[in-house]
Amino acid sequence: MRGGIPSEAAGVDWDVLRAAADAIAARAYAPYSGLRVGAAGLTERGELLSACNVENASFGLSLCAECGLVSALVSSGGGRLVAVAVTAGDGRPLSPCGRCRQLLAEHGGPDLLVDAGPQLPPRRLGELLPLAFGAEDFARRSPS
Ligand SMILES: [Zn+2]
Repeated sequence: MRGGIPSEAAGVDWDVLRAAADAIAARAYAPYSGLRVGAAGLTERGELLSACNVENASFGLSLCAECGLVSALVSSGGGRLVAVAVTAGDGRPLSPCGRCRQLLAEHGGPDLLVDAGPQLPPRRLGELLPLAFGAEDFARRSPS
C-alpha cells in the first residue's frame, strides 16, 4: 500500500527494532567518521538480528551496519528480512546507502519495510530502490 502505513507494518514493533539498532551502535568500530551506526532487522521467522558498522583505514573497505545485518541473517540460517531499522544510537532513522539498499533487496525484496522514524510510516524498500537489479535479471539475460 502506498501513501499509508503498509499493512505488514502492523505486526512490527518499531520501538524494539530502533532500540536494538541503538544498542548495537555502541559497539561500532568507527574511529574515522565517528558515526556509530546500528542496524536491526526482523526476519520472517520473528528473529531479531542486529549489527554495527565496521570502518577500515582504507575507507572503501568499510562495512555498513546493514552489511553486518545481512551477514548475521545468512550465518544464522538465512531467510528473509521483513523489517529493518537503522540508527546512529539516537533512535532517529538513518537511510541505508545505495550499496546497502541493494544488499537488503537481495534478502528482503521490495516489500521489506524500512523504518522512517516514529512520525512517519515505514517505507517499502521498493520505494527506496526502484527497478532494483536482482537474481531474476540473470535469467532474463542468459542465452537460450
Ligand atoms: Zn551502507
